[in-house]
Amino acid sequence: MSDLIFNKQIETMPKPELKELQLKRLKAVVKHTYENVSHYKQALDAKKVAPEDIKTLDNIRKLPFTVKNDLRDNYPFGLMAVDLESCIELHASSGTTGSPITVCYTPHDLEVWSEVMARCLSMSGLTTSDIFQNPIPYGLFTGAFGFHYGAQKVGAMVVPSGGGQTERQLQLMKDYGTTFISGVASYAAYLGQKATAMGMDPAKDLKVRNGLFGAEMFSSGLKRKLAETWEMDVHDIYGLTEMCGPGVSTDCDQHDGLHLWEDHFLAEVIDPKTGEPVGVEEEGELVLTTLTKEGMPILRYRTRDLTFIYDGQCDCGRTHLKHEPIKGRSDDMLIIRGTNIYPSQIEHVLMQKPAVGTNYKITLYTEGIMDQMLVEVETKQAIPEAEKEMLAKEIQTAIKAVITLTPHVKVLNPGDIQQDTIKAKRVFDERR
Ligand SMILES: [Zn+2]
Repeated sequence: MSDLIFNKQIETMPKPELKELQLKRLKAVVKHTYENVSHYKQALDAKKVAPEDIKTLDNIRKLPFTVKNDLRDNYPFGLMAVDLESCIELHASSGTTGSPITVCYTPHDLEVWSEVMARCLSMSGLTTSDIFQNPIPYGLFTGAFGFHYGAQKVGAMVVPSGGGQTERQLQLMKDYGTTFISGVASYAAYLGQKATAMGMDPAKDLKVRNGLFGAEMFSSGLKRKLAETWEMDVHDIYGLTEMCGPGVSTDCDQHDGLHLWEDHFLAEVIDPKTGEPVGVEEEGELVLTTLTKEGMPILRYRTRDLTFIYDGQCDCGRTHLKHEPIKGRSDDMLIIRGTNIYPSQIEHVLMQKPAVGTNYKITLYTEGIMDQMLVEVETKQAIPEAEKEMLAKEIQTAIKAVITLTPHVKVLNPGDIQQDTIKAKRVFDERR
C-alpha cells in the first residue's frame, strides 16, 4: 500500500462534523461574494435571496448558478472579491473561444491549493524520499504550479522539467533517478513509447513507480496500459482553473472513484437540462462551489463535466465523498447520425485489446450526406499487415457493439500518428 494520508484530521473527519464545517464555510462564502462581488449581489438580489437565507446545506439550491460565460463577461477581474493588491499570483486557461478564464490567488488561496495538491499526491504515494519530475509547461496554466507546490508541501524533491523535450525528459529521469511523474496520461504514454524507441525499457531502466495524471479524461484501459509499460501505480487527478487548478479530487489506492475535498469544495450533481439535483448514484453534471477561496470565490459553478457521486464509505478511511472518474465534458459529446457518443467509450474498447498501443485518433467526416467515423490506432509493436487487418475487423465489431454505429478502422504502426506532446488531441471533427 502506497496510500498515505497527508492530513489525517481533515481527511478522515466524521461526516457530521464535515457537513457542519461545510455549512459554516458556505455561509461565509455567500456573504463574502454578496458583499464584494457586484455580479453575485445582482444575481442573488434577482432571485430575492439574502446570505442569511442559507441555513442548511440544501439551501444552496436557492443560489444562482455560475457559468463559464459569467467568467468571460467579467474578464479579467470583474469577479474578484478582494483587491488586486491582496493577490500574489495569477493563472489563466485558454478556452477554444473567447477570453481566457482568469483567476487570482491570495496567499491563503495558494496555501489551500498546495494543501489539496499535497493530499492528492500523498494519496498517490508521494513521500519525502521521492524524486518528483514535473513534465508540464510552466506558465499561465495552473497544472505545473499546482503539482509543484503540492509536491514541495509533501517534502519531495521537485524536478521542474517543464513541458516537451521528450528525449531530455527521459534522460533526466535516468540521471536523477526520478520515482514519481505527473502530467497528462497521453504524454506519459508517449514518454513510454519514446523510451522504447530509444532502446530503454521504462519498467527496468527507469525508477518511475508512481504517476498522477489529469487534465484529460483517460479510461481504465489506458491506465492499465500505462501501469504495465512503466510498472507503476497510476492515479487520476481532477481539477479546473475556476476552482484552483488541479487538486479537487484524486483516487485512493482502492482505485474506485475519486475523493473530492469537501472542506474546500461543495459538490452537487444536477440534471444538465433542468438544473435539478439527480438521485443517489445517478449521473449528471458536476456543480462546484468554492468554500474557502478569498480571491475569486465561485458559487455553484457548472463544470459541464459528467459524473456521479458514490453512496457509502471508502475502505481507505477517508470520509470525503467519491465521484466516478469524469466520463467526459458534456461539450465532448459527439452526435453522429443522431447517436450520442463519448470518445471515452471508444478509448475503452481500444484499450481492451492487448496488441493495441496507447495512441489513437478519431476523425469524423461527411461522405455524401452521411456522417462517417474513422478510428486510427497504433499497435504496441509492429505486426504483419494481415494481422493488422484482422485486428481492425475485431475493433470495428467491438466498437459497433458499444455505440451501435460501424466505424472505419485503420490499424497503424507505433509512431504513425502525429502527437502533440503536451495534450493529445484525439478527436477531429471535419464534418461539413
Ligand atoms: Zn478511499
